[in-house]
Amino acid sequence: MRLLLTMKELLDDANRNNYAVVAPNAWNEDTIRTAIEAAEQENAPLIIALYPVMANIEEFASIACKFASVSKVPVAVHLDHGSRFDEAIRAIRSGYTSIMVDRSQLPFDDNVREVKEIVKIAHAVGVAVEAELGHVGQGKDYAKTRDCGLTRVDEAIRFVQETQVDCLAVAVGTSHGIYCGEPKIDFELLKALKEKINVPLVLHGSSGTGDENIAKCVTEGINKINLFTDLDLSASEKLIEYMTDKRSIRIVEICNVLYNGYKEKLVHNIRLVRSNNRV
Ligand SMILES: [Zn+2]
Repeated sequence: MRLLLTMKELLDDANRNNYAVVAPNAWNEDTIRTAIEAAEQENAPLIIALYPVMANIEEFASIACKFASVSKVPVAVHLDHGSRFDEAIRAIRSGYTSIMVDRSQLPFDDNVREVKEIVKIAHAVGVAVEAELGHVGQGKDYAKTRDCGLTRVDEAIRFVQETQVDCLAVAVGTSHGIYCGEPKIDFELLKALKEKINVPLVLHGSSGTGDENIAKCVTEGINKINLFTDLDLSASEKLIEYMTDKRSIRIVEICNVLYNGYKEKLVHNIRLVRSNNRV
């Protein structure tokens, strides 16, 4: 079995069988190892994603590809929110098996043109591409950006046809980071998108959306769940618990407590999106 796979291979299976693959952000050897341990424990496929402000693109690739190639489950190494042309090219050159080309804040035609250009390059060397249409904003601006950012079905059909992307991130009412206000997911819109779009659909801003909403998004056709804030919060909660009543604090223990918190929440989400026991 090949263990370092493209995201397309993982998501096409999820699309056929109505589940989602988790895509946690990782940034160093410890978070990469922890995410892979969680996936191995659950016998689940994994997309390990670097958000480029969190670490160097090439250094991350050298560690993540090494771990992925010896893991017991299939792993894709993914660039999350690549916002510049050079980032996409550096990721392709350094061994990522998929990249996100995020031009969601550009007008439709510019988004199509820039994504299409990178799809052509990426596909020539077998790298899968995710793009975003509509715009998933930041939690602090949720009230202002939620409605105007929603993906339009007619545009999504044209976008997938014209760009030939392998999967599409859609805006259906989620938000990055911590929500200011109650998350309100437009399940009717998600259902309409799923009916018309034949590539797998991706949910950004899953953290804080709530287990019930996430499970329903997967039932309605989401195949990739991006995660960071919830893993981060789980790690810090565990640290606060650990620090209570401690007279002396050991650095090794602190690291273990943090990574265990990250792992516990990731395992919870693997089961929630039904990707456990899919390998
Ligand atoms: Zn995102």
